Amino acid sequence: MSIATEVKTVKPRRAVLEMPEYHPPLAGREALRLDFNENTFSPSPRVMERLKLITAEGLTKYPEREPVERIVAAHFGLQTEQVLLTNGVDEAIHLMCCAFLEEGDEALIAPPTFFMYDVSISMMTRGLVKIQADETLEFPFERFLAAITERTKLIIVASPNNPTGATVSREHLLTIAKAAPQAVLMVDEAYYHFHGESTMRDVTLVPNLIVARTFSKAYGLANLRIGMLVGNAELLKYVRKVSSPYNVNGVALDCLSIAIEDEAYLAWYVEQVRVGRERMMGGLAELGVPFFSSAANFLLMKIGPKHKELVAAMRKHGVLLRDRSTDPGCDGFVRITIGVEEHVTRGLEALKASLDEIGWKRQLVSEPAGQQGSGDVREFE
Ligand code: PMP
Repeated sequence: MSIATEVKTVKPRRAVLEMPEYHPPLAGREALRLDFNENTFSPSPRVMERLKLITAEGLTKYPEREPVERIVAAHFGLQTEQVLLTNGVDEAIHLMCCAFLEEGDEALIAPPTFFMYDVSISMMTRGLVKIQADETLEFPFERFLAAITERTKLIIVASPNNPTGATVSREHLLTIAKAAPQAVLMVDEAYYHFHGESTMRDVTLVPNLIVARTFSKAYGLANLRIGMLVGNAELLKYVRKVSSPYNVNGVALDCLSIAIEDEAYLAWYVEQVRVGRERMMGGLAELGVPFFSSAANFLLMKIGPKHKELVAAMRKHGVLLRDRSTDPGCDGFVRITIGVEEHVTRGLEALKASLDEIGWKRQLVSEPAGQQGSGDVREFE
């Protein structure tokens, strides 16, 4: 007698069958990585020093998140209960959906935006409401506000947004939070450092606001997987409840407390990106490539029908770009990450050669409409 049960007798939840999948193109990335909006260079050298202190015994221990939440909270001027460390913002999004969404609840997003919102929301409810941006790709504030109903339970807004680079003003965010007291507004500030405007300070006064930050971008720790949620302690209690106590590993926790101390390094990296973004915008204008204004560490270029050809040509020149053509409203658009000076130079050189190779016809590029990063990043929270 066979002891094996037929696998096909087991069915997942209906939502799991129906939800979309996210498969970022991670294979074959041994080139200049201008495709994932990562830090293109390195985390703080102090983090690298800290990594050398990892011991065998240290690795045998379960990680302790709470002491590092205390350090992080103190650093950002918050109460410990207002901070939850997560396995990247990816996990934060997932936990938010687990904690707040019931089947039938509505959740609101504004595509084109980060695809994991769609994945995590659809895992919990069929009530995903998408308010598509128009061709400016700016946040559709009026239509978004009008889409809030009594059934809206979760609202996720990225500012700056990915892949557009567009921002949403603090005033608009607070208006949204106020218009939906029955819902949680999660503001995803993954790219905050390259913009400099935040609504994190408002969590103390706005009870339904939760802000997400990642340490994957400006801090250069994408491989360690650390993000955080900041918000009302009462709400975060529920999110903490659905998270594993060991969701963030001890190596990441050790490195995080060191990384946040090195503000000089962070400021240096952010300045590299700010200057590099200006250079890349100038270079694109010269090459006659239209692009969207961005407050993040990337620019979205309007390439048109030759988008695949460009990405392939760039790869031959050793530079990876991200084709965003399948994002809603982004047909023909390709995203390029801005990194340190040398990487911007290499990106621009490869672009010049690749555009030539694909027979690019220059277009008249006027200063793109929409908001731009303030550039003036005064303080790091
Ligand atoms: N939010 C946005 C808007 C992003 O673009 C990304 C990463 N691409 C994330 C969240 C996920 O960040 P993390 O590495 O912290 O999971």
